[in-house]
Parts: sequence; C-alpha cells; structure tokens
Amino acid sequence: MLIELQNQVLEKIATGEPLTDTLDLLCRQVERLLDDVRCTVVMIEDDKIRPLAAPAMPPFYAEAINGVPVGPCAGSCGTAAWTRHPVVVTDIATDPLWDGFRELVLPLGLRACWSSPIVDNHGVSIGCFAFYYREPRGPTLLERSVVDACLHLCMIAIDRARSVAAHHALVYRDALTGLGNRAAFEETIASPRADGWALMLIDVDDLKTVNDMFGHRAGDGMITTVAHRVADIVTRPRAFRIGGDELPVLIESAEPEAEVERLSKTLLATIDHPADCAGQMLTPSISIGAAIVVPGSDTAHEIVRRHADLALYHAKSTGKGGFVCHTPRLGTRIARRLAAVRTVRAAIANDAIAPYYQPIVDLATRTPIGLEALCRIRTSEGVIVAGDTLQDALTDAHVAVDITRLMLAKICDDLRGMRDAGLTIRPVAINLSPFDFRRPGIARSILDALDAVGMPRSALAIEVTELVSLGRHNDVVTAELAELRRNGISAALDDFGTGFASLSHLLSMSVDTIKIDRSFVGDGPRGFAIIDGVARIAGALGIRIIVEGVEEEAQAWALARLGCQAVQGFRFAPPMPLAKTIDYLAAFEPLPPAVVVQPLRRVG
Ligand code: C2E
Ligand code: CA
Ligand code: CA
Repeated sequence: MLIELQNQVLEKIATGEPLTDTLDLLCRQVERLLDDVRCTVVMIEDDKIRPLAAPAMPPFYAEAINGVPVGPCAGSCGTAAWTRHPVVVTDIATDPLWDGFRELVLPLGLRACWSSPIVDNHGVSIGCFAFYYREPRGPTLLERSVVDACLHLCMIAIDRARSVAAHHALVYRDALTGLGNRAAFEETIASPRADGWALMLIDVDDLKTVNDMFGHRAGDGMITTVAHRVADIVTRPRAFRIGGDELPVLIESAEPEAEVERLSKTLLATIDHPADCAGQMLTPSISIGAAIVVPGSDTAHEIVRRHADLALYHAKSTGKGGFVCHTPRLGTRIARRLAAVRTVRAAIANDAIAPYYQPIVDLATRTPIGLEALCRIRTSEGVIVAGDTLQDALTDAHVAVDITRLMLAKICDDLRGMRDAGLTIRPVAINLSPFDFRRPGIARSILDALDAVGMPRSALAIEVTELVSLGRHNDVVTAELAELRRNGISAALDDFGTGFASLSHLLSMSVDTIKIDRSFVGDGPRGFAIIDGVARIAGALGIRIIVEGVEEEAQAWALARLGCQAVQGFRFAPPMPLAKTIDYLAAFEPLPPAVVVQPLRRVG
C-alpha cells in the first residue's frame, strides 16, 4: 500500500504536476490509509509558513497560517521548522506552543498535533508534514513509519518545485526589474486568454537624455522605479519588460476599453513623481500606446502588437499627454502627419518660411492695437502652406522648436522694418509650442532677440495654448512665463474653450490675455452667452479678452454689445505678408489719441 502511494507521488513529481496537486494527493492517500488523521503540508519560505496542502481542513485554516513566521514557539509546524526536530503536542488546549493559534483548530474538534520538519540535503528546513488527531495523543508506530516515507517524498517534491521555480525565474524574469522578460511576454501573449483583452505598451520618456546626463545607473534606476510603480498597479504576472525601456502590460477584461482607460489614467498620474534613481532625484514620465480586442472579435496577437506599437509611436511623437489608443484611423493620421512633417522640414531647410500678420483690432475704434504673427510656408511648387498641414507638422518637437526660432528671428527683422517705415510699434504676438517649454531658455531667447534689433520689450507678446500647462514640464512653464511677464512681455492663453482643462485650472495660469476660440463666435446665441460669461470672469480677474474669428459685421455688433474690446478675424483683416501689413498699418497713422496700444497689464 505504502509502495503504491510512493509510486503515485513520484510519478506526479516526474511528470511535473503542480506541487500543490502532488501533495494534495499525498495527504488524501495517507488519510485513507490511517484512521482518524488529518494531514497537512506546509512549505517554509523566507522563514515564513506557506500552506501547500490540507485537503481535510477548511479554507480559513490555510489563510490563517499563511505567512506566520517560524520560531521557538509557533504552533507545532512553526516550532518544528525552527528546531528542525519533530514536535508532538498531545494536548493543544493546554500546550503553551499553541498560544495564539489554538482557537484555529480546537473548534474543528482537533485536540493534538504532531509535526515533522522536512529537511533538505543541506540540513535546512524547507517545510513541515503534520498530523492532526481528534484525541489528545501522540503518534503510533505505524504512523511513524508512514511519516518517514512521506517526509522523503515531500522533500523530493518541494526541492524539485523549487529548482523548477529558480530555473523559471532565470529564464523568464527580467533581472533588473523583477518583471517578466521578453520570453515570458512572448509565451504569455501567444497563449490562449480571455475573450476581451488589451495590450498596453508603456515606454519611459527621455531615457536617453537621463543616460547621457546622469549615467546608465541613473537610467536603470529610472526604469526600475517605473517598473515597480507599474507592478504596484497591475499585477506582476501581467507586466513585462522587453528590451530597454519598453514595458508591455496585458489586460484581460470583459470591458477592455474601460479598463485600459482607467489603468492608463492611474499609471500616468502615479508614475509622474520624483524618485531617487541611483542618487539622482528624477521625475520619470511615460507614454502609453494601447490596442484593444473587444469580446467576440478574434484578432491575432501579432496585429494587436502592431497596433499598440503604432499607438505608442503616435503618443511619443506628438507629445500630447502620454496616452494613445489605437483606432482604425490612426494609420492614416500618422501617414498624414509624416507627410506634413516632411513638407515643413524641407521648408525650414530652404528658408521658405515667413510670418504673416493678422491685426488685432479695438472694436470701438476699429483700429489695430496689435498683430498676431502666423507662420506661412512656401513649398517648392510655390504653394503657401498654413492651417492643418502646419499644425500636423507642429506636433513634431524638432519642427516646432525650429519654427519658433525662425519665426522669432523673422518677426524681429520685420519689427525693424515697421519701425523704419515710421509706424507706431504695436505688440506682435508669436505663437509658442509646448515643446518650447521642454527645457528652460525660451524667455531668454525672446528677450535676446528683441535686444539684438534694439526693440523695446513691449514690441513682442506670446501666445500659448493650455497644452503647455498640461504637460510634464509645469515648473519650466511657470518660470518662463513669469520671466517674460516680469520683462514686460504679455502672455495670452490661445484657443480658450477648445481643450480639456477646467476653467479654474486655466484661470490659475498667469496670463494677461485670453483669446476666445473662433468656434464660439460661429456658434450663435449659445456661443455669445459663453463669451459673455468668460468676459465677466476674466474682467473680474484683470485679464483682458480677445475674441477670435470674427467674420461678419453682425458678430462684431453683438460682441460690442457684450462690451468686448479686442477682436480678430477676417471681418477686419486676414493674415497678410509684411509689405501688405505695413500698408495696412500706415493707413492708421497717426494714431488717434484714444487708442491704447499697450496691452493692459494684469495686476499680480
Ligand atoms: P491660431 O493661433 O488660433 O491662429 C488663428 C488662426 O485662425 C489662423 O490660422 C488664422 O488664419 C485663422 N483665422 C483668423 N481669422 C479668422 C476668421 O475670421 N475666420 C477663420 N475661419 N479663421 C480665421 P492659421 O494661420 O492657419 O494657423 C493655424 C494654427 O497654426 C494657429 O492657430 C496656431 O495654433 C498654429 N500656428 C500658426 N503659426 C504658428 C507659429 O508660428 N508657431 C506655432 N507654434 N504655431 C503656429
Ligand atoms: Ca494664436
Ligand atoms: Ca487661436
């Protein structure tokens, strides 16, 4: 009988059955063999008890003993593992070894417990094999001989499971972060999974810069920080590290879209905090690309990966807030964007860029009080590019920064031209991109550019959208805006009302002016009601407003009735090249005394 049991268990070990199944079988067979015995096996890991098999015990038993430290006085098993000698407790009710544990088993009608340590070849306790009795008694001779045989089987089973686990860790775990490695990811993504699922690719931003500036140890520290923060949010077996800084996460859910949305929000919010990366305090940030397989749609995992890759590429290259989920239209969008970037790059290389100027007009007197500089590009075919193509290209960081640099230089030249033509200098607003605030210095460049042509500070103004303050470089944005405004260069918040930021967030930005997006003027009474509301709030805060996109006289009238002062739009003048702008402005010279050219400064 005992031989048969041994063979059964050895076969299970040899065929690689899970450890718990093997030991469960062992316990059940022993319980059949011996009368009135309940049999349990635990493993010892980091000096703590981990339950493996207790088929005749209720589930709460395993829960209660899980993680209990071994020690000189820790029930029968904890003590046996600690002393490496069998511990016989003939009366649980009175034995002090069971202080703190007896209420767990007495209500089950169990009175005595005999636990034997499972000791490996090096003399280390790796587990315990225990009998519980209904009577206050010790082991019989027969029981002793059974346990001797079982201890040996348990030792082999646990030892084998451990070496399999160690081997598994070696093959499937990423040594740096402890996450699953590429092999683990490939195996997991190729194996069958729930009907609805999603793949998120997390990529650590600016890792190369960190490596270059602070060394590879800091870079490794940053990856590890991100990996641990990811693993705190998604359970470890679902997060992997493949290659340098790419962390895929597999999600199984009946509602994968909602889950991806929720997780990416949490991830973006959680990871963006400073951490000690090998002695450097750094704030990691990530981009996420995701692809979703809704339940019922059977998409090959290779395709899902390609889609997630594409989404990540888009998230990284547009720098627009970190998370992009793949949609069927994404491919065309990316192609269009690449074409736009190519066109604009070529124009930059050929110096085929010129600012056009659109007047900002005082509504009461209909005279210009400022200009907005808008970038125009002349392609090799002689076409002037603006609008969507320009905006697509401006999602590329290099293009955006180059455009700002070129526009700034050309606007300053043009300012000199206007002065030489004898015109009153009105502030010219330059549009800045969020990429201009990736690192400090934009304020300095603007001030230097003005100084270089001998123009007063009030000759330039800047426009930024809310995107600058939604990114990860908020401290740079705040400092640069403050420096500009301290030096007399006014700042406007552009395209107000088109984004996602809350009103309170926007009003907390330090700007002198709000430019209300042109979509409101074209939106009938509803739009005017909103303009009215924003104008009142802005007025109370000392912020002036400019209403954009005024195309019809009726709109100008309606705005005048609301008390709006400054407007911009085709009704007054379109964006014009320099020569035309000079002609246009000359018609207003000399300025009537009532017109205020300097923008109203916001107090504080
Ligand atoms: P924006 O800053 O909101 O510029 C105003 C846009 O509205 C301009 O388009 C202008 O031509 C257009 N516009 C002016 N009045 C009217 C009107 O009455 N009706 C209508 N429907 N449109 C009007 P544009 O020049 O094509 O510029 C588009 C966007 O490209 C700008 O929007 C701005 O975000 C960006 N942009 C233009 N130049 C630059 C630049 O030098 N640097 C940066 N970073 N962005 C620029
Ligand atoms: Ca603008
Ligand atoms: Ca605008």
